[in-house]
Amino acid sequence: MSVYQVLTVPNEILRGKALPVKEINAGVLRVLDNMRDTMYAADGVGLAAPQIGISKRIIVVDIGDNLLELINPEILMQEDSQLGSEGCLSVPGIVGRVNRAKKVQVKGLDRNGQELNLEAVDLLAKVLQHEIDHLEGVLFIDKATETRTE
Ligand code: ZN
Repeated sequence: MSVYQVLTVPNEILRGKALPVKEINAGVLRVLDNMRDTMYAADGVGLAAPQIGISKRIIVVDIGDNLLELINPEILMQEDSQLGSEGCLSVPGIVGRVNRAKKVQVKGLDRNGQELNLEAVDLLAKVLQHEIDHLEGVLFIDKATETRTE
């Protein structure tokens, strides 16, 4: 098990656009494993590779039911809206209210290179949007209608 240090603002890696993964090799699998360990160690529900200093399009998500690993994730469709509270391991001590799509359809590759296509609603939809934003260098504080320290 390997736990990375999670980068926090204003680290500039968090503001870069992450590059697509071209080949799922041993290095990518190791990154996935370590991202999972880091997310669980930090009690997070999601983590994007730039948050551990790796500017690649990889996210892991677990809202409490199962681990989802996505390489090169893309949002294909979004529908309706939800306004909810968000925080981020990279923006410690701040929470904000963010308007997100209530339902999304996302595709990406799993660790075996198989294409995944999933529909998510509510919390899972929110977390997926939050993590995919990280790959564009976007943080929830950019979108929050109000933020406060916690
Ligand atoms: Zn985040």
